[in-house]
Amino acid sequence: MTYPSIYLHIGGAWRAGSLPQTQCVINPATGATIAEYPLASADDLDAAVASAVKGLAVWRRVAPAERCRLMRKAAELLRTRADEIAALITAEQGKRLSEARLEVLSGADVIEWFAEEGRRCYGRVIPSRGPDSTCTALREPVGVVAAFTPWNFPINQALRKIAAALAAGCSIVVKGPEEAPASVAALVRVFLDAGIPADALNLVYGVPADVSARLIAHPDVRKVSFTGSTSVGKQLAALAGAHMKRVSMELGGHAPVIVCDDADIALAVKLLSVQKFWNAGQACISPTRLLVQEGVYDSFIEQFIAAARGVRTGDGMLKETRMGPLANVRRLQAMRSFVDDAVGRGARLELGGQRIGEQGYFFEPTVLSGVPVTARLWNEEPFGPIASIAPFKDLDEAVAEANRLPYGLAAYAFTRSAKAAHRIGQDVEAGMVAINSINVGMPEMPFGGIKDSGYGSEGGTEALDSYLNTKLISHTLT
Ligand code: NAD
Repeated sequence: MTYPSIYLHIGGAWRAGSLPQTQCVINPATGATIAEYPLASADDLDAAVASAVKGLAVWRRVAPAERCRLMRKAAELLRTRADEIAALITAEQGKRLSEARLEVLSGADVIEWFAEEGRRCYGRVIPSRGPDSTCTALREPVGVVAAFTPWNFPINQALRKIAAALAAGCSIVVKGPEEAPASVAALVRVFLDAGIPADALNLVYGVPADVSARLIAHPDVRKVSFTGSTSVGKQLAALAGAHMKRVSMELGGHAPVIVCDDADIALAVKLLSVQKFWNAGQACISPTRLLVQEGVYDSFIEQFIAAARGVRTGDGMLKETRMGPLANVRRLQAMRSFVDDAVGRGARLELGGQRIGEQGYFFEPTVLSGVPVTARLWNEEPFGPIASIAPFKDLDEAVAEANRLPYGLAAYAFTRSAKAAHRIGQDVEAGMVAINSINVGMPEMPFGGIKDSGYGSEGGTEALDSYLNTKLISHTLT
């Protein structure tokens, strides 16, 4: 695999940034620098917005059926380039190659879903109050979008925003993730090669706080979409509020899992061990607070440890690897401090808990039981390969614990009782609740959080709503 040179895409051209300094891209499996990427200056950002304004004028007038055709072509191109792009993701983000390939292929499905939904952005005719009047509600693209996408799923997170914006007839300026610039650049090329007008899709990298401050305040930017941590999301939402911009925020989570006495424990262990160590736990919907009812607590832990022990950690490029390294040194330091804090407060370290080797950012699949409610791990999003387990007595206690934190993204439950499942579905405060499954995130499903996990949806029909304005035309014949 040859790692490409990284450029910004502004005004239909791939070019260097105007800031004199560059930043390094690091392969998290080796710790080695594999490339440098350019940084956009304020002038570059203004040029990107000016290009998007031009792109909007063209793209919003393209018939939805034609937009759909071009986007479906992009989906096909993405599929044909899956191997090449997957290798880039693994090189710069670390996840194992098969997961990276799946990310690309499922991304193609997401593009197709939005392409089709774009054809169905219907307005409506409202019965008018006079004989010579018509009253119509139109759905129009919101305008130029500024999108900020993270490194954990570099393709998937960027394309959910790009595809929804383009399907709605918007143009977009994307600030890609600093850790994984080549993957997002490859995605942008796919759209451009499919025939999307070059001005409709601009890509920048830069100093994150400077880029967001410039783009969000820019009068030609009408909508802001961010995926990342709750703390940064709150800063950007405040900035967007100050400039009255439409906002979608897909932020952190701390997903509770309620495993009841009557659950199919083998199924719960199988699904949760896959979901927990997928992408080394660096997923906003990762199961992070495993609440297990007392009757099955010991047996669940025993089976979960056995499953976690089988997760082979290594370079994502190797066939035998089931879990790659963490994406950056910050996550490695965070894991150590979470484990030390939890053990110091009385949790029992059942498995793992250590960095692996001195090269790269590998951390052992880790299981902690009896995690006290005071542990940082039980309160702050871990975003890493740590499963924390604690017992509960009855459903009231489990639901109260699930809702205790300010997060509200994903939640999971395992039970054979329809009554318990109904109660959990109704009472757990989360944007997504999966019962006896880990099935969330398909293109047709709403994807988003409540409370401190943000607002707006990145999936399902709801995702397009946030890229559309509703305009009333009330017309009386004279
Ligand atoms: P971070 O909050 O520093 O960065 C997350 C992302 O936000 C990065 O892509 C970064 O470029 C961007 N960012 C940071 N400051 C910004 C700013 N002022 N303006 C615009 N963009 C900005 O966190 P991190 O150390 O990279 O990642 C760890 C935390 O981020 C995790 O604990 C997790 O909560 C969160 N995260 C969440 C998701 C998600 O899918 N919701 C994805 C990645 C990271």
